[in-house]
Amino acid sequence: MELNILTICYLVASVTFILGLKMLSNPATARKGNLVAAFGMTIAIIGTIFLYKNSETGEGLHNYGWIFGGLLIGGIVGTLAAKKVKMTAMPEMVSLFNGMGGACAMLISVVEFNHLSKELSAGMLDAGSIQPTVLIIVLGLVIGSVSFAGSMIAWGKLNGRVKDFSFPGQNILNLIILGAALAGAVYLVIDPAQSYLLYVILVLSLVYGILFVMPIGGADMPVVISLLNSFTGVAAACGGFLYDNKVMLTGGILVGAAGTLLTILMCKAMNRSLANVLIGSFGGNSNAATGGGKKEQGHYKEISMADAAMVMAYANKVMIVPGYGLAVAQAQHTCHELEKILNEKGVEVFYAIHPVAGRMPGHMNVLLAEADVSYDKLLEMEQANDEFKTSDVVLILGANDVVNPAAKTDPASPIYGMPILEVEQAKNVIVNKRSMKPGYAGIENDLFFQPKTSMLFGDAKKVLQDLCAEIKSV
Ligand code: NDP
Repeated sequence: MELNILTICYLVASVTFILGLKMLSNPATARKGNLVAAFGMTIAIIGTIFLYKNSETGEGLHNYGWIFGGLLIGGIVGTLAAKKVKMTAMPEMVSLFNGMGGACAMLISVVEFNHLSKELSAGMLDAGSIQPTVLIIVLGLVIGSVSFAGSMIAWGKLNGRVKDFSFPGQNILNLIILGAALAGAVYLVIDPAQSYLLYVILVLSLVYGILFVMPIGGADMPVVISLLNSFTGVAAACGGFLYDNKVMLTGGILVGAAGTLLTILMCKAMNRSLANVLIGSFGGNSNAATGGGKKEQGHYKEISMADAAMVMAYANKVMIVPGYGLAVAQAQHTCHELEKILNEKGVEVFYAIHPVAGRMPGHMNVLLAEADVSYDKLLEMEQANDEFKTSDVVLILGANDVVNPAAKTDPASPIYGMPILEVEQAKNVIVNKRSMKPGYAGIENDLFFQPKTSMLFGDAKKVLQDLCAEIKSV
């Protein structure tokens, strides 16, 4: 009876994971999607704790002190971290949490192998019968350890504690280490009595995880984290196989598949291959990011605050293009304030959202949602590109690469082929940033030197506050 209720719990949880994931794909339903999936996970955890029975011994779980102690500590740390984290530090936190998932898969493999190993040496099991289980264990071990070590390095890079590091022949050494770990894994499956091999595989996988992420450019970390996230999903799915736990299997496969798709979509949106991300050092400390040196750009013109306010206050339609700088300045609330002031003056305002603006998928949607900007004001790239033609002003707030025309016109540019927001179709383009420094891709932006473009220098928050005050007085 209990087992049936548990199966139903797992079914409900699996359905909530799928629904939650679906809801996450739209900003209007994303919050609810998160809650739905979290609710499902709670059912799965509580069901497992109280209803699970071992099919052979009929025993349930014990060690309740450890289980609830872990839940309490994890729950408190997770809640506090999620509440405190700044939007710009979100990829960092995702990386850390993803690393914990990898570590779980790694430890599960170690613990379960030791159980099997003891029974094997006591003669209670024969080697042939445990080979399929050992295969799952070593898969979980290799993938989980790579994900754990890689995520920790990614976390360190994002918060500046770990610097990019590479040496000649590193990719070959990486392949040798991975090959050695896999060869050890195959050998252990063939002869599970060689238990020392488990620790050799563990160490090799950890070293591979570190060396694999070390040379990747710091700014490419979100793509790497997404990839490592898919690894963690697969490692968790191995745990699902191991314990014959359906919900762990479904959850793991969903994370694995979603992480893989997200990685592919991010690469596509940047018009780069995954191989280029993994070995290209794009956006990191490498010179490759500069796209081959500076070119002569001519002159740019500046606009005064009063003139910018005037142009916007008398416009019919203003399109705002938010970028990474808006998140850095934490200017989303002031930006919404500006939208309301312009609306009061009869100006229509929309936001043009590029899929890779900012530093994580959906960054701009989340940022603007935080400031209660209405979802129907957010236009996706294709929609926005249709609207620019009929816009009087485009106000670019801390965005750079996502509006760089080199993506369309310069085949030598590292961002060539990346779809961009075609802001130059509007009547006036006002760009707010603090200097003429490049953005993430490390390249100059021709847009800033075009006749329609005017630069409005300063921190996005301060500039928006001043703009709001000026427009009110127009
Ligand atoms: P960019 O990084 O191209 O440009 C951001 C600009 O913001 C900079 O040029 C900077 O100029 C300006 N800025 C920084 N701080 C402030 C501030 N306080 N006030 C005003 N301006 C500021 O950002 P985009 O959003 O245009 O493009 C995102 C880039 O990140 C793309 O190249 C994308 O491929 C990449 N990427 C995106 C990921 C994602 O998932 N979204 C993942 C990985 C990479 P200045 O210093 O002069 O102020």
